Amino acid sequence: MDIYSFFLAMSILKVSDAVFRFQCPVQSHWTHRAGTICGSKSSYFCLYDINENNFTEFCRKNPDYEKRGKKLIVAGSTQGTLQGSNCSNVFYQPLKFWTNESHSCVLAKSYCNEEGQVVYRNGTNKVDRSCRCDYTRGYDFIIRPKHRCYCVPSEEDCSCHLKICPSNYNFSQDYECLKVTERNTRFNCESIHSVVKAYIPFHINLLIQLDSGDEPFITAVDNIQPYQFEPVVHIEQNEVSSQNQSDSSEENSETESDSSDLQDSRMDNLAWCDCNHCTAMPTVDECLCCKEVGPVAEKMEDEDLDCITDHEGFTGNCLNRHVIEVSLYDFVERQGPIDDNEPIHELYRYVAYRRFTRWIWHILGKKRRKVIPACAVLKIREAFPSEDFTGFKYARP
Ligand SMILES: [Zn+2]
Ligand SMILES: [Zn+2]
Repeated sequence: MDIYSFFLAMSILKVSDAVFRFQCPVQSHWTHRAGTICGSKSSYFCLYDINENNFTEFCRKNPDYEKRGKKLIVAGSTQGTLQGSNCSNVFYQPLKFWTNESHSCVLAKSYCNEEGQVVYRNGTNKVDRSCRCDYTRGYDFIIRPKHRCYCVPSEEDCSCHLKICPSNYNFSQDYECLKVTERNTRFNCESIHSVVKAYIPFHINLLIQLDSGDEPFITAVDNIQPYQFEPVVHIEQNEVSSQNQSDSSEENSETESDSSDLQDSRMDNLAWCDCNHCTAMPTVDECLCCKEVGPVAEKMEDEDLDCITDHEGFTGNCLNRHVIEVSLYDFVERQGPIDDNEPIHELYRYVAYRRFTRWIWHILGKKRRKVIPACAVLKIREAFPSEDFTGFKYARP
């Protein structure tokens, strides 16, 4: 084949490519296209067809929807059966998916790749990725985020800046300058165990160029798993452990199952967490996701939730300072007065753990130890930090 024929063949290939790779209209053209094809926006469908490996458009009487976290695709013959399909790793769908509005999950996840940012959590098919400022390199949030330790770029400004501490001070995981000599072992934010330098994987540029209509091609590159290097988080051995254990120790002392194999399998990674809100815990027993605990999972299913910490019953029962305050009075009445030097926030956490156990299992059994899922422990820790970090004074009995 001479060079001319070669280029001719290539250009024909390109033309055929363009012909067969049908694209759904972009958002701004959606209504116009729908009107032209079906006469109305509500009857127009443009969905990915897994059999044809391409998008297809058709009209139906009424629009269809799928629950959040998913999109609809054509699974049978064209215009045939529709079925729900998860968003690809790089997109999420925080609201119901409607066929008269879109053809794929609507929002691209944030990358956490601006100056000083590292990935905190990868998000889910319903929730955006969250980021931290890399305190190990001296970066602090410019504006303190809602969750103090991490930030959700789709909800708030997550920009980081270099914080300069005076000499003889280190910048801590709580984003504070701490005297080098000061050994503060109680932190409210997790440490970043291994720092993930923010970077743009080679195909992210490709993703940015692609309209979300190209999701099938994105699905292909998804296999590369650009964010598999999520930071392995590590919690200081002291706090949750002692509190969670102390919470349960009154119930039972047979808590430690120290198989080191088992330890390794859970404590090095977060693969056991399906709710996306857990963190590594000091013992393997505590590395437990809300989705793994039957009665907890049932409560979530009733409300179609992905994590128990999103449950109104949890926030109302375990995070509300005033609710805990009343339970604390009750506790003190039965157990006797507390020392004035008792770290009050630890008692609030303790009562919150007890309320969680009561809420889920109804009883605080003396014999049966109930491990509280890591995500719930973490939320309770965040809700009741030491008084130095709060804008209020805890009410004391
Ligand atoms: Zn979890
Ligand atoms: Zn959870």
